[in-house]
Amino acid sequence: MKIACLDLEGVLVPEIWINVAERTGIDELRMTTRDEPDYDVLMKRRLEILAEHELGLPDIQEVIGGLSPLPGAADLVAWLRERYQVIILSDTFYQFAAPLMRQLGFPTLFCHRLEVDEKGRVVDYHLRIDDQKRMTIEALRGLNFRTIAVGDSYNDTSMLGAADAGILFCPPDNVIAEFPQFPITRTYDELREAFLAANEGE
Ligand SMILES: [Mg+2]
Repeated sequence: MKIACLDLEGVLVPEIWINVAERTGIDELRMTTRDEPDYDVLMKRRLEILAEHELGLPDIQEVIGGLSPLPGAADLVAWLRERYQVIILSDTFYQFAAPLMRQLGFPTLFCHRLEVDEKGRVVDYHLRIDDQKRMTIEALRGLNFRTIAVGDSYNDTSMLGAADAGILFCPPDNVIAEFPQFPITRTYDELREAFLAANEGE
């Protein structure tokens, strides 16, 4: 039995923080790990910005509730689930992902958790485990599963490298240049073909 492990943002759904920035008009929330490579510093700053603007979890969930998966993503997930066990491995938070997962038919999701107080303010965040994408792949392989991983950006490359097969989906140029070993796909049809090719390669 093979397990397909997919990144969420940039592969199945739009970038959540960027959309929250656009829809709230708070430009500083567009910051990503490219602007601030230290994830903890980045997240603490994001939480500060939310507090400064008095935005609580319900406000953000309302924004996210207006988002849709990328066109064709739900069909892709359905196609994969007929052929593999599917796990979404994401560095987002359960409280953010929920409205989008509904539109994807609630595939299994491994991600992180926000700490929210009784007034709905986001007071902290908790990573389930460091480097969970790669750790999950290694744990699945330890259970004798074969894994095919898909991701779009730098923080997916350790997962792609640990999997039996790794596939890039719409990656930025620097990732393409630095990781030429992974096949590149830019549409869901190409991604389906890459999955089929990974099967044949065995
Ligand atoms: Mg991504």
